[in-house]
Amino acid sequence: MLLHFEPMLLELRHPFRLATGTRTHTKVVLTQIHWEGLVGFGEAAMPPYYGEDHETAKAFLSKASEVLLNENNSFGSSDGKEEIARIMEKIDAIAPGNNAAKASVDIALHDLWGKVIGKPLWQLLGSELEKMPATSFTLGIAEPAVMQQKLEEASGFKIIKVKLGSGDDRQLIRSIREMSSLPIYADANQGWKDKEATLDLVYWLQEQNVQLIEQPFHKDDLGSSAWLTERSPLPIFADESFQRFTDLDRVSDCFHGVNIKLMKCIGISEAIRIADVARKHRLKLMIGCMTETSCGIMAAAALAPQIDYADTDGCWLVRNNPFEMPAFGNGRIMLDSTPGLGLKK
Ligand code: MG
Repeated sequence: MLLHFEPMLLELRHPFRLATGTRTHTKVVLTQIHWEGLVGFGEAAMPPYYGEDHETAKAFLSKASEVLLNENNSFGSSDGKEEIARIMEKIDAIAPGNNAAKASVDIALHDLWGKVIGKPLWQLLGSELEKMPATSFTLGIAEPAVMQQKLEEASGFKIIKVKLGSGDDRQLIRSIREMSSLPIYADANQGWKDKEATLDLVYWLQEQNVQLIEQPFHKDDLGSSAWLTERSPLPIFADESFQRFTDLDRVSDCFHGVNIKLMKCIGISEAIRIADVARKHRLKLMIGCMTETSCGIMAAAALAPQIDYADTDGCWLVRNNPFEMPAFGNGRIMLDSTPGLGLKK
């Protein structure tokens, strides 16, 4: 198998204001795995706060390409899921971290698997299309006029996601409520500090038809999250507190659910393991994304029907997506019978 990779800068439609700062672009690396005349596409999306960038990804993927060079005979000959899991164990062992770079290999392998077998990935993963959850659309924090414009761009989406925790949250929600009555997912991105004040706010948010809360407190402050989870009328999800399968034990008693992102958990293979075990812990599941091209988003969408909540709007937030946008209807990504991820250039 031959691995190619190409760094790219994704431009955001609107500067993205979070509790942690403002962003205008995201670094990604697009990967291709060539095998027997077929090409699998993958992507690493690397927001700055996880410590990966073009240089680290290029260094890692150079090493990964050596591992893949020796994978010429086995892939596609037996069960693809196990084959990919086996290859990803080797990729994961190359070096710690580099989660998005690893995910770019996993996603490309899954796309390739579908193309080898001639079936769409969602079907190979056992997803049922009628269970596809609606995806939220993230409304970055902005002046009311800009928010209005963003809401118009988001028409078609049935759920709004709002980033809280960097200012007057009640005022922000009130101003959205003047423009829209859609259900809201609220993401504090670690921005809240005081437990009691947060609990008050969560009750108020529930009255505003907010349906879930993501990452209320600092990622390491699991005690506060556990306290809130015990009392909150809304489900509380771990995002920054939860990266990989090995984190499940640590967070499972502190949150109602976990936000699985392929770029955090090195791809689809591990995301499936997380979902299986998280359900045994009675955790709710959310599938999220970074700012990504259609490639990463279609990979998440293939798994999304097996997940409770979806926040897979990443490619709607970028200006220069090199792939066709996913088909979309009734607030949901619509998958079809195209083999692999179903990506169109
Ligand atoms: Mg989040």
